[in-house]
Amino acid sequence: MGTPALIRGYEVVIGIETHAQLSTRSKIFSGSPTAFGAAPNTQASPVDLALPGTLPVMNRGAVERAIRFGLAVGAKVAPLSIFARKNYFYPDLPKGYQISQYETPVVQGGALEYFLPPLPSTGSGRSETAASGPLVEHVVNLTRAHLEEDAGKSLHEDYQGQTGIDLNRAGTPLLEIVTEPDMRSSREAVEYARALHRLVTWIGICDGNMQEGSFRCDANVSVRRPGAPLGTRREIKNLNSFKFMQQAIDYEVQWQIDLIEDGGAVQQATVLFDADSGETRAMRSKEDAHDYRYFPDPDLPPLVIAPEWIEQVRAQMPELPQRMATRFQADYGLPAYDAAAMTQSRDFAAYFEAAAQASGRPKLVANWMMGELSRRLNARGLPIDASPVPASELAKLVMRIDDGTISSSGAKELFDALWTGALLPGVQLSGAGVAVASASGTLSVDAVIEARGLKQMSDSAEIERIVDAVLAAHPKSVEEYRAGKDKAFNALVGQAMKATKGQGNPAQVNALLKKKLDG
Ligand code: ADP
Ligand code: MG
Repeated sequence: MGTPALIRGYEVVIGIETHAQLSTRSKIFSGSPTAFGAAPNTQASPVDLALPGTLPVMNRGAVERAIRFGLAVGAKVAPLSIFARKNYFYPDLPKGYQISQYETPVVQGGALEYFLPPLPSTGSGRSETAASGPLVEHVVNLTRAHLEEDAGKSLHEDYQGQTGIDLNRAGTPLLEIVTEPDMRSSREAVEYARALHRLVTWIGICDGNMQEGSFRCDANVSVRRPGAPLGTRREIKNLNSFKFMQQAIDYEVQWQIDLIEDGGAVQQATVLFDADSGETRAMRSKEDAHDYRYFPDPDLPPLVIAPEWIEQVRAQMPELPQRMATRFQADYGLPAYDAAAMTQSRDFAAYFEAAAQASGRPKLVANWMMGELSRRLNARGLPIDASPVPASELAKLVMRIDDGTISSSGAKELFDALWTGALLPGVQLSGAGVAVASASGTLSVDAVIEARGLKQMSDSAEIERIVDAVLAAHPKSVEEYRAGKDKAFNALVGQAMKATKGQGNPAQVNALLKKKLDG
């Protein structure tokens, strides 16, 4: 961990609380479904509505997901934890309290380890230049993760000037994951949030859908002079995109420094980020724990987790992303950056391994996945399991480059054909194209190479004939080359490639020209 850059002489301190919605089909204390997008109040049972005489019953699926998380971050999974009532008054909370965990949470401690990519040398975001440097291993310590229920929603729009209440979300299971104040820049905070997002989706406890609110972060931000005690924090609530998180923290840091420089003092507060203005605005002064009058919920027994249950869950854990990235470096010789990129999700990693094993050319596969494939997936907002180019065909494409069948420009055209399903330019694969389609219904690499004539010229006698003709036709370039002009050589290569209609192997053409000119 390097020393973070100061901002106007101040050190930034950030701790993050994340609400991850657990991917159970029913709610945490009732049997109502949790599916998103249903008509208001159609998924709210008497328990969710807090009708008198109803009692909560713990959903074992939610507990199992908490255990998975605890194991994934090396935390202590508490053998006994307690549900507490967090009392507050709000229209979307019919019970008048939220069931949460307070003093004794189910997951205690642990840490999230991840790679922090090197800063790109120019601009922002992840440019190509970021790919070259080494990756920094980063650790954020976790304080706890506890189970709790979500509240309902107030509907302020399209309600004839009134506010409606939708209790479909009331009782949805959440795991609130709290970090120590370990982060020192908005960038670290965003990378932590990305890594956490990857982890909870990887271990299958959360669908990670940020638009639907399945994964939302609160960022606690303070500033201090280096070496001074922690400053007073303000908490930016409900950040549901990584971009907004970065913008909100950056704005908040400048705001706090301005205030302090003007002789003011930061007051603890809860703030909201307004994406339109790019500003944070105070929502309320921060409640202290005693405002919530926490006490153990008498309706729920302590949550007891037997060691056997933990072992059962452990036995079903997938290989975790950090470990897989390390294995990719060792087994496939990938650089750290590539290994991190290949493990951005489980599906991405599975695609990589399939293509790497089928082709025996892991580095080439990684290059294509980080380049052309990612570019096209991102442009269309597709997950990798919806890629029109399956791993088996990417593997073949890479093998055809590697064995010299196609050139790199031919490979680009080939990939485009596979992606768009066009056997020939403008010719779409249809039912009639069965003969050229692979089992999955997509075009096959070899069929496209054949149909589009992408094969590089392999007949060396033919290439030699072309090279001789080019040399005979351009005596001036030959003369210039012999006089020491490198440019002339490039011109000859260009002429020769043109004469092969782009199907000559550039390396072969190059070598042959050199031999003839120098020999
Ligand atoms: P609360 O219970 O009021 O939410 P916590 O003490 O549990 O408060 O802290 C909540 C989050 O705020 C944690 O992620 C913690 O790391 C972070 N945090 C605490 N103090 C600071 C601070 N001075 N600056 C930045 N973050 C902080
Ligand atoms: Mg909190």
